[in-house]
Amino acid sequence: MKTLRIPIALQQGVMQCLRAKLAQAGEYFDCTFPEPAISFQQRGTSAGTAWLERWEIRLNPQLLLENQQRFIDEVVPHELAHLLVYRQFGRVAPHGREWRWMMMTVLQTPARRTHEYDLAAVRSLPLRLSAACPDRTPP
Ligand SMILES: [Zn+2]
Repeated sequence: MKTLRIPIALQQGVMQCLRAKLAQAGEYFDCTFPEPAISFQQRGTSAGTAWLERWEIRLNPQLLLENQQRFIDEVVPHELAHLLVYRQFGRVAPHGREWRWMMMTVLQTPARRTHEYDLAAVRSLPLRLSAACPDRTPP
């Protein structure tokens, strides 16, 4: 499988959004959260996944390249909210009220569960019709 190069400007956009949202959460909870690791290894039709114990966010490089800032503004807070919910509340329903509250009240981002990106480029065989965010944890 080919590796996609993510332009530096786009990587910086990701980190900028991540740090801004992390700072917002830090202010709200009056604490300093460690910065999650970011990787661009998400495959398939998922925009991203949050790896709770690893404190890591994996982003889909193809969808990031195609959707740019819109992807960053939607997906980074979405996955970060999963990590923050895990830290503050433990293991709860992936998109339950804790997550929605984290998105809307703490991160001040619309709480959307799924993305609407064009999947033509990432929808290779086998066809996957999965939701945006499986919220997997490492086996
Ligand atoms: Zn999710």
